[in-house]
Amino acid sequence: MVDGGGRMSDRRLQAVRGMNDLLPDELPWWQLVERTARELFADYGYQEMRVPLVERTELFSRSIGEHTDIVEKEMYTFEDRGGDLLSLRPEATAGLVRAAIEHGLLHNQKQRLWTAGAMFRHERPQAGRYRQFHQIDCEAFGFEGPDIDAELIQMSARLWRRLGIRDVRLRVNSLGTPESRRAYRARLVEYFGQHRATLDADSLRRLESNPLRILDSRNPALAEVIGRAPVLTEHLDPDSRGHFERFCGLLEACGVPYEVDPRLVRGLDYYSRTVFEWSTQALGAQDAVCSGGRYDGLVAQLGGEPTPAIGWALGIERLVALLQAAGGPAPGAAPGVYMVLAGERAEREGLALAERLRDALPGAGVQVNMGGGSFKSQLKRADRSGAAVAVVIGDDEAARGVAAIKPLRSDAGQQECGIAGLAERLAELLRRN
Ligand code: ATP
Ligand code: MG
Repeated sequence: MVDGGGRMSDRRLQAVRGMNDLLPDELPWWQLVERTARELFADYGYQEMRVPLVERTELFSRSIGEHTDIVEKEMYTFEDRGGDLLSLRPEATAGLVRAAIEHGLLHNQKQRLWTAGAMFRHERPQAGRYRQFHQIDCEAFGFEGPDIDAELIQMSARLWRRLGIRDVRLRVNSLGTPESRRAYRARLVEYFGQHRATLDADSLRRLESNPLRILDSRNPALAEVIGRAPVLTEHLDPDSRGHFERFCGLLEACGVPYEVDPRLVRGLDYYSRTVFEWSTQALGAQDAVCSGGRYDGLVAQLGGEPTPAIGWALGIERLVALLQAAGGPAPGAAPGVYMVLAGERAEREGLALAERLRDALPGAGVQVNMGGGSFKSQLKRADRSGAAVAVVIGDDEAARGVAAIKPLRSDAGQQECGIAGLAERLAELLRRN
């Protein structure tokens, strides 16, 4: 790096705060989550879609809402060289809705979609809260009834099952229509207005801009006044109430346990009716793993035809942390076979042999020792690679057309095998592993 004076600076460059490098030993967990989610969406008929990381700032302020934490305090916003005001996406829904409208995907059609990728929020970095983080996100467009609400929950519940995650619980609520929310909002302003003295600075600000968010406060000093606040569920319009009751009935029919939490309001303005959140006690303060809800007004609000919609997003970092906290073995990333090649002839013939083994054993993982070394040092590397077996060839074995097979994870002894039958013998051994 060259500093202002033209001299090389010796300051080591580091990643931007809150933006993580994902190192090779972590990736198997990520790949497990991503692979499992991809299969899950295929099973339920959801199609993948990908949208840009950067959108016009206006898209987010018009959808997520001017007076939300995300838009007020957390977005990475900049003017590009052409003078356009752009933001890194803080969530996926707004971009998906924009793209679906732009490409006519919602015209007389229903859509089940999913996407995954990096999101950006300028929050205070801490365990489970980062400035670049990753979400898996799904959305369903054009379905009005509560059956799709239940399907989305079923799908997430199945994802936890497939990943072996038990320590999560589901809370659900209904925010009603924008009209019933407005009426409730007025009641809240009146109620909290009478308790101004108890409120903290954040809540006083929200009292003006977004009073529902006061219910979300984690300040213990507010717990009591929030506990006595009027409850939204009691101010629902009859249609929303009916929708919510049928939704809860479907969850029961599907055998998914849930709790109704009348204080669950979610931090984004676009939600209406059903909202939900899966949370955990295994991760400390960052306890939300997956959250979402219905946003029936958003498509029209962004210029599309009125289209009911619902979706959820899960945080991959938090899911990976949950998997790791559960203490199970890391998902397999080690090669099946490590080839130890000692001597000139063994090295020369080894590369071609490795290719034949990969042809015969696709997916087994065949890693070849590179750069030579003694038998002993190569076997050390073989062990460190995590491979199940080492195939050991020295010039003597090469001359005789054989290889030694050395199981690395069991007490079974070494055995010799002719090159012609090697792939078959390895297949057998790896199957047993
Ligand atoms: P939180 O209450 O923890 O701030 P949120 O309500 O802001 O979460 P959403 O906007 O609903 O979260 O995003 C969906 C999911 O994305 C969350 O449940 C969480 O798992 C994850 N998530 C959100 N913000 C972050 C972040 N800064 N770092 C890591 N994961 C995050
Ligand atoms: Mg947040």
